[in-house]
Amino acid sequence: MKALVKKEAKTGLWLEDVKEPKPLDHEVLIKVKNASICGTDVHIYQWDDWAKKTVPVPLTIGHEFMGEVVEVGAYVNRIKVGDRVSVEGHIACNSCRNCLRGKKHLCVSTIGVGVHRNGGFADFVAVPEDNIFILDDSVDDELGSILDPLGNAVHTALSFDLVGEDVWIVGAGPIGMMACAIASRVGARNVIISDLNEYRLDLALQLGATQAINAKSQKIKDAMKKGKIQIGFDVVLEMSGSKAALRSIFKNTMLGGKVALLGIPKEEIAIDWNDIIFRGIEIKGIYGREMFETWYKMLSLIQSGLDVKKVITHRFHKDEYEKAFEVMISGRCGKIVLNWD
Ligand SMILES: [Zn+2]
Ligand SMILES: [Zn+2]
Repeated sequence: MKALVKKEAKTGLWLEDVKEPKPLDHEVLIKVKNASICGTDVHIYQWDDWAKKTVPVPLTIGHEFMGEVVEVGAYVNRIKVGDRVSVEGHIACNSCRNCLRGKKHLCVSTIGVGVHRNGGFADFVAVPEDNIFILDDSVDDELGSILDPLGNAVHTALSFDLVGEDVWIVGAGPIGMMACAIASRVGARNVIISDLNEYRLDLALQLGATQAINAKSQKIKDAMKKGKIQIGFDVVLEMSGSKAALRSIFKNTMLGGKVALLGIPKEEIAIDWNDIIFRGIEIKGIYGREMFETWYKMLSLIQSGLDVKKVITHRFHKDEYEKAFEVMISGRCGKIVLNWD
């Protein structure tokens, strides 16, 4: 079968012929139909420091995908051949204290599909039954391939009550853009997004942001004034990992405000903790998606009208993966779907 493989410990990815996986007793085999490219895949492509210390070589990458189940292992009973499915890419150990108390998203030894073990940028991929999410008709084949990042957006955005609140979304990557759609859908008053990328700021406005500001040329205080926000934001969703952003967030959060952190900083960042303490700010770190509470919430949001399809801006066939990564790296895109047929 064909798979997009990190074959060597250097920049690049290779579309290779590899052996088809055989599902273990507790696994299912999926014939992949659509996959989508994540920032994580770009890190692996570029072979940065994080990738070097995290990803074993050779490895088939890809953790955002959907397809059809074509084979099930002997101990599988919930999933059937023919099911249309998406996959939760974090495989929990099911035996640590957090797993046993129902907090699998906080498993102490999570394994990442397409990061630590072979992933879904392939004709076929084997995944534990526990990680399968069955799709219904409300989720089409393209949307089904971006549920992983949509889940990140849902998990982050719904961490705090947004009804009637002034929300600042920092970073207009695909997850930030989708968070705009969610915040606006659930009744936030202001949904202000900031970034440096004009293409993505435009797209964020189409997805539901009330204002999109370029952090290089516009001031957050001006956007606040325009949105009639007097002191600070009620809720901040940090999705950039940027040093400048992290430093300004806490100065622009309302007393008693809440901050959810999803963006991953590249380095240690000094923060003036006084801003947090004296303003009584609540901070929550976000990793992955709650299994499977986030997935059920995501599905309900979609079924009741949440529309994030505009975030998908490009489609390529798997053979054009080099071109797809080029567009992804340029930043002039939202989500990019690879058609794997
Ligand atoms: Zn991802
Ligand atoms: Zn665990």
